Amino acid sequence: MQTKYIFVTGGVVSSLGKGIISASIGKLLQARGHKITIQKFDPYINIDPGTLNPYEHGECYVTVDGMETDLDLGHYERFTGIRTTRENSVTTGRIYQAVIDKERRGDYLGKTIQVVPHITDEIKRRIQALAAREHFDFVITEIGGTIGDIESAPFMEAIRQLRWEMGKNAINVHLTYVPYLRAAGELKTKPTQHSVKELQSMGIQPDILILRTELHLEQSILNKVASFCNVEPECVVQSEDLPSIYEVPLNMQRQGLDASILRKLGEEVGPTPEMRPWRTFLQLQRDSTEEVHIGLVGKYDLQDAYKSIRESLALAAIYNHRKARLHFINSEEITPDNVEELLKGLAGVVICPGFGQRGIEGKINAIRYTRTHDIPTFGICLGMQMIVIEFARNVIGHKDAHSVEMMPETKHNVIDIMESQKSITNMGGTMRLGAFGCDLKEGSRVRAIYGTDHIEERHRHRYEFNNAYRAEFEANGMMCTGRNPESDLVEIVEIPTLRWFIGTQFHPEYSSTVLKPHPLFLDFVKTLI
Ligand code: GLN
Repeated sequence: MQTKYIFVTGGVVSSLGKGIISASIGKLLQARGHKITIQKFDPYINIDPGTLNPYEHGECYVTVDGMETDLDLGHYERFTGIRTTRENSVTTGRIYQAVIDKERRGDYLGKTIQVVPHITDEIKRRIQALAAREHFDFVITEIGGTIGDIESAPFMEAIRQLRWEMGKNAINVHLTYVPYLRAAGELKTKPTQHSVKELQSMGIQPDILILRTELHLEQSILNKVASFCNVEPECVVQSEDLPSIYEVPLNMQRQGLDASILRKLGEEVGPTPEMRPWRTFLQLQRDSTEEVHIGLVGKYDLQDAYKSIRESLALAAIYNHRKARLHFINSEEITPDNVEELLKGLAGVVICPGFGQRGIEGKINAIRYTRTHDIPTFGICLGMQMIVIEFARNVIGHKDAHSVEMMPETKHNVIDIMESQKSITNMGGTMRLGAFGCDLKEGSRVRAIYGTDHIEERHRHRYEFNNAYRAEFEANGMMCTGRNPESDLVEIVEIPTLRWFIGTQFHPEYSSTVLKPHPLFLDFVKTLI
């Protein structure tokens, strides 16, 4: 089958959930036996979101091949179980950088470099690059931002051209918003009409419209939108607020979204897949009402900042027949005096990843409390490094133990800069990124949890456990149970005498999916109930 292209755009307002819709489309086509991939274009100038504050952009997701990407790639992976790569995440900055590099090399000698055709050609090349390397039946390309943004104009032009060139092999799915005006008691379709008009003015006629709405839309409203926007009535569907994002694929399937996509792309529709495993998961989710209270100790009081950790905990709870109730605890506010009060009622605590000085002493205060009160604790990346520092200070007795990230002159540098990082001056894309191997020590808890002696997990850090201290830590009861076979970097520490006290230098949250939740999260939550 020839590769077909589905472009997903959004109108009216941002945050409508284009990522969830793109992931759901991928899931539905995959359930029909198709090989799919999903790609995100972000219209900002940063090369990647790695240098962005989580308040700006939410979590930074990392692919196995070490690209720092938008958190929507996390949705793609969790929904579909596919592994994304650096080609699945492209920003305007990367497009321009590639074009400017080519210009300097002399690839365009004699020519004036312009948005059209040079930038748009580079966008088109990247949309087609995924399927050039490996066969996909469908490539779903989500365009970040909202129609009408100055930044997204080159992407729209690229889509217009591709649709013209590809004919029936490409379609546009447009997601818009139908607001409810409480005072008038009315649902309003005008913003949708304007958004489609804007799209049409760029030469793009949407094939399918998905209307985000808080209230159920009557068929008459869908019909009205269809006729005003030149879209077939069966190709207008609604996406109501649902109790869980994981309900979205089935809601779309019920309205025939996948069938319409296939028909529009000239593919045979065939019988509707049952989605058995997915339905089983949803049933489990609905049945899991008893709550498990878990603390997230971090800096950012923002749902999206620790997105993958939140989702991994939620999924792990469901598979343990529980509903995860996550409590954010601002690490900047945790003192030895209030820690007991702040952690009261929590079955377990996750110490979140992060960078820089702010809030780390609070993390250490929290860890001291959970370690001495045997409250299950899961430290991730910076969280693991803080577990190490707390242990060095309060168990081994190196009162000034620190990470050279926060205190370069510390005498007890239990967390040190990696050798390979010492000469690096550029901040962007230069950390230890992507999947690395890790051998698990025989007899360790992590080995039992994973059920294997070798794993691959994704990283995003510059600093590491200082091996000079390994013997001292182990003699005092903190074991280094995961090590990289090539570099001997310590990837996991644990205190085996406690109920669950594990720190990972890597980010297990990136590889937890709906149908395959991560074993560390599963086991952590299991301990809490
Ligand atoms: N700041 C730490 C480092 O660079 C941890 C990074 C993280 O938590 N992702 O090593």
